[in-house]
Amino acid sequence: MSANDGVVIALTKALESSPDDMDVRLHLATILLDKDDFSAALEHFSVILAADPVNIAALEGAQKASSATGDTRRAAAYAKLLAGLGHATTPGVPSNAEAEPDTEPKKIRVGGPPELRVVGGAAASDATDVDYDSDDDRITLADVAGLEAVKQRIELAFLGPLRNPAMAKAYGKKMRGGLLLYGPPGCGKTYIARALAGELNAGFMSVGLSDVLNMYIGESEQRLHALFEMARTNAPTVIFMDELDALGRKRSDLHGSGIREVVNQLLQELDGMHTGNEAVFVLGATNLPWDIDVALKRPGRFDRAIFVEPPDIVAREHILSMNLAERPAGKINLPALAKKTRGYSGADLAFVCELATERTLERAMQSGVVELITDSELKAAQKEVRPSIASWFETARNYAMYANASGEFNDLAEYIQQNKI
Ligand code: ADP
Repeated sequence: MSANDGVVIALTKALESSPDDMDVRLHLATILLDKDDFSAALEHFSVILAADPVNIAALEGAQKASSATGDTRRAAAYAKLLAGLGHATTPGVPSNAEAEPDTEPKKIRVGGPPELRVVGGAAASDATDVDYDSDDDRITLADVAGLEAVKQRIELAFLGPLRNPAMAKAYGKKMRGGLLLYGPPGCGKTYIARALAGELNAGFMSVGLSDVLNMYIGESEQRLHALFEMARTNAPTVIFMDELDALGRKRSDLHGSGIREVVNQLLQELDGMHTGNEAVFVLGATNLPWDIDVALKRPGRFDRAIFVEPPDIVAREHILSMNLAERPAGKINLPALAKKTRGYSGADLAFVCELATERTLERAMQSGVVELITDSELKAAQKEVRPSIASWFETARNYAMYANASGEFNDLAEYIQQNKI
C-alpha cells in the first residue's frame, strides 16, 4: 500500500462524517486523479461542481478525468466552461468533441462586419478564411451600460444554465435551443449578442436572415448549411441571426416558391444543434417578435425570448459619451442630456451626436479654427431628433395586452406597466 492509499482511506473516512466539506473532497479527488482512478475522481469533482459550479480546480480536474475516461463530449463541456470563465483549457484536450486532438485552437472573430456572407457551396471548406478579430474588439456584458433587468434575465435564462450545467440538469433544464432577443430597433440587441459571445469566449458570426432568404433560393439552403458548418469548424461560436421575423413573413408571402426548403434547412440546422457541436450557440433578434414563425418557437429552437428594453438613463449617458469620445467636444453636461433623452434609442442618440458634430463643423469652417462641440449644440440637435421608440411601443402594447395568452411577452408587458407607456 502506498502512502497515497493511506491518505485516500483517511480522506474517504473524513468525508463520510462531513460530506459537505468540499476542501476535503477536492483534495481526495485530486489524489484519485493522480492515481489514475479517473471515474472515482470524476464522481467527487461532479459533487463539488453541483455545489459550486465555477470551482476552477474542480472544473480542471473534471475535464482531465472525463477526457481520460474517453468522454470527450463531457471534457469539451468543461473546457468550454473554463474558457468562458477566462481559464485556459488543458493542452491536448479538444475544445469541442469533434475537434482534431492536435488542432491548434483558432483565434475567433468577435464583432467585425455586420454581414457575414457565405459564398456559394464552397463556403464550408473556406471556413478558415473567415478573418478573425483581435481580442481588443471583444466586448462582454460589462460593456453594456445600464439595463440591469435585461442582464439579469439573460443570466437566468441563458448564461446561468450554461455556467451551472450540473444545477441545470438537476432541475431538468435542457441545455439546448436558441435565445431570441426582441425589442425596439437600435436599442442594443446586436450589441448584447456580441457581448454574449464575449462572455462565452466565442466567435461571433452575424447573418441578416432576409439576406439569406433573398439569395437565389436553391442556393440558400447550401449557404445556410455552410454557415452552420463554418460555425462548427470554428467553435465556440455564436451565430447571430438578425431579422428573424423575415422568415415568418416570407413563408406566408411566398407559398410554394422554394422558401419551404430554406425554412426546413434552418429548422434542421437548429434541431441538429444539440446533437452536433454543443459549442455553437444561436441567438436571434427581431423588432417584430409577433411575426416570428411559430415553427421557430418550438422547444429546442428559439424557445426562450428576452425583451431588450430601450436604454435607461445609465445606458443613455454611456452611449452619448461613447459617441462623443472621438470627437472634439467641450465640457458637456452628459447626465442632463441623458435625462432629457428618455425614449431615444441607441441609434437616435448616435444621430443626436452626429447632428451636433455637423453643426460644429460648419462653425469651424466659417471661423477657420477648431471649434468644440458645445452643450447648446447638443441640446439643439436633441430637439431636432425625434425619439423613434414611441411608435414601436404603440404596436407592442397591443400585443402585450391582447396577444399574450402564452405569457411570451410578459417582460414587455411589465416594462410597459412600470414605465406607464
Ligand atoms: P439593435 O440590434 O437592437 O437594432 P444595436 O445593438 O445595433 O441595436 O444598437 C445600436 C447601438 O447603440 C450599438 O452599436 C451600441 O453602440 C449602442 N447601444 C445600445 N444599447 C447600449 C447599451 N446598453 N450600452 C452601450 N451601448 C449601447
